[in-house]
Amino acid sequence: MQDILFPQPSPTATRAEALAQLDIFAARTHRYARERNFVVAGHGNVSQLSPAIQHRLISQNEVIDRALQAHPFPAVEKFVQEVLWRSYWKGWLEMRPGVWTDYLQQISACSEDELAKAATVTTGRSGCAVMDDFSRELLDTGYLHNHARMWWASFWIHQQGLPWALGAQHFMKHLIDADAASNTLSWRWVAGIQTMGKSYLVRRDNIERYHHDPAVEGFAMLENIAPRLLTDTASRASIALPTLTEECPSSLQRTALLLHEEDLSVETTALASLTPQALGMFHFSDQNQSQARAEWRDRAFADARKRAEKHYLHSCAMMHSPQEIIEWLKRENITRLVMMQPFVGPLRDTLSPLSTLLKSNGIELVTVRRREDTELFPMAKSGFFPFWEKASRRFQA
Ligand SMILES: Cc1cc2nc3c(=O)[nH]c(=O)nc-3n(C[C@H](O)[C@H](O)[C@H](O)COP(=O)(O)OP(=O)(O)OC[C@H]3O[C@@H](n4cnc5c(N)ncnc54)[C@H](O)[C@@H]3O)c2cc1C
Repeated sequence: MQDILFPQPSPTATRAEALAQLDIFAARTHRYARERNFVVAGHGNVSQLSPAIQHRLISQNEVIDRALQAHPFPAVEKFVQEVLWRSYWKGWLEMRPGVWTDYLQQISACSEDELAKAATVTTGRSGCAVMDDFSRELLDTGYLHNHARMWWASFWIHQQGLPWALGAQHFMKHLIDADAASNTLSWRWVAGIQTMGKSYLVRRDNIERYHHDPAVEGFAMLENIAPRLLTDTASRASIALPTLTEECPSSLQRTALLLHEEDLSVETTALASLTPQALGMFHFSDQNQSQARAEWRDRAFADARKRAEKHYLHSCAMMHSPQEIIEWLKRENITRLVMMQPFVGPLRDTLSPLSTLLKSNGIELVTVRRREDTELFPMAKSGFFPFWEKASRRFQA
């Protein structure tokens, strides 16, 4: 696999960096299906764009369009499919928020013994050297290749017998691309509770085939692992997706636009034409995130703020709690707040008091959803392949 070793791209924490990285990677997306499963130094065979896509420094549509400019659809189908896994997971979780609540409950139910054992694995002291290397890579860089995430999660659940939710929480803390939907549902899939009866088992021969240079000490721990049979405690009851606007209706009300971490390029959406009287950004300091993740977010937020200030011709106020948002709106005499709808996950949980606070202060709330989410989310009713069958029709024409 020597030909796919090339230097690690610089971290893409601004929209310009992400677009440049996308340009470089688009040229090789026709090789992605063949190369993507290999874990190689520098990870040059995968895009490493997930933090930028997750925070929407760039959109999935931009990523897909760029790949399709470089190559015909059949040549890049696998790449496009992977990009749309995020929409699938997000849509699935939006319709089943009980699965997120269950994850939070599972964490709070973990015992002291489980927490102590978890710490030996997360700090790279499990005795299985290849897994310990992944543990350190995650702590040092905030990134793991997809195959490494699958192996590590499987080792955690099926070899170490640790609670899947505790591992998922560790990923949420350290991954720069941490995403409530992709992460929770991937962990559930490895655990065998997402697709019932189907778990993912790490195997030594699979690592030997796909890892360019695995450390072999403790490899025997990966032999003959029996799958744990776990029960799904989550409610999978699905709710109807709320009908949201994609373009903000014009209004004579004094309007504020609030940016947040789940969409850091609002000025490229239908909200580009909004002329707000005030511009703000919500930046809550999640105690549960690593230094690497916090630093990346600070850079990405600074970039988003600069672009939004230039586009909307306002300076951007920073807010750290729902209460601060209300105080800012009152100071600015605002009667209507516009923001992108937060997805199921930590941001939505943190902002949950906002709608009541706004109502009691006589301020209207307009939440907007990107058109691609409105189109794709309802397709995530069951498994990925029925979703893909519908979602990919527009590329086949
Ligand atoms: C246990 C586990 C936990 C995970 N947690 C997260 C997470 O918190 N956040 C996250 O973004 N992804 C998560 N993933 C999915 C996947 O591993 C990453 O999206 C991918 O490795 C990101 O690297 P990349 O940008 O180089 O991907 P590439 O291989 O270059 O893929 C291109 C893009 O497609 C999307 N993508 C690719 N694979 C997946 C996938 N399986 N699910 C969803 N989107 C995908 C990403 O946006 C990615 O940037 C997890 C996977 C597993 C097995």
